[in-house]
Amino acid sequence: MYYCGMDIGSTAIKILLVDWSEETVAWKIGATGGRFYENAARLLGSLLEETGIGRGDVRAIVSTGYGRRLFREADETVSEITANAAGAARLGNGSRKINTIINIGGQDSKVISLDDRGGVSDFVMNDRCAAGTGRFLEMAARIMEMDLSELGERHLMARGAPAIINSTCTVFAESEIISLLAEGHAREDVIAGIHHSIARRIVRLAKRVGVAERVLFDGGPALNKGLAAALGHELMTDVLVPESPQITTALGGALIARRLFE
Ligand code: ADP
Repeated sequence: MYYCGMDIGSTAIKILLVDWSEETVAWKIGATGGRFYENAARLLGSLLEETGIGRGDVRAIVSTGYGRRLFREADETVSEITANAAGAARLGNGSRKINTIINIGGQDSKVISLDDRGGVSDFVMNDRCAAGTGRFLEMAARIMEMDLSELGERHLMARGAPAIINSTCTVFAESEIISLLAEGHAREDVIAGIHHSIARRIVRLAKRVGVAERVLFDGGPALNKGLAAALGHELMTDVLVPESPQITTALGGALIARRLFE
């Protein structure tokens, strides 16, 4: 028997299966698009086909994330805060216990405080402003005419100080970035500046709930090693990034499915 976590985010759908011993057996990521239900159902279908697992062998599906209520076949829905905490508790098993989660998604960012047992004690969310989210990175990649996945590496190649970006609004930041490039600043320094500007926004958000070590950074933008470095620097603490940071919440959903529908 398998248990499924389905995280329907504003930008990406993440589906993950665990077996009865709570081990991850497979996962898949697809674009959310405008047809939440159809895209989620299709992604699940292709994950099952690729792994050779029958739909009847999936004992339960827990959906989570922004579009969680739109997947009608889900056996249970839980908030992405609860699911993210459950995933983080698994990743922080043993001595690497997690106390704070910083999650940056495609269109929002949140900071979650965990208690000693891995439960949620507090959280704060920004879903009003694109600065400090994956959207900002997408805008930056577009201006730089490079792939989103290149930004991290280019940051780590920066030789100068990170360029200063003062605007807190994406639209104004976009003009500021273009001006910096026009003034001849190295692209790498500008990219590092962009990451530091996102990191500073996240730190301001995090201060509202407090940051306790150990800090886990997850969500798709955590794939960007430059952003992770900037976040650690601005927080003045080590930041743990899981190997596959985009699927932590789906993992939490699958673990909750296993526990609820054993
Ligand atoms: P949501 O749950 O809100 O849909 P995700 O956690 O799935 O968001 O993250 C989606 C975001 O991840 C995208 O908007 C994009 O900015 C970012 N992202 C995806 N892949 C990469 C990558 N390789 N490097 C950096 N950022 C990435």
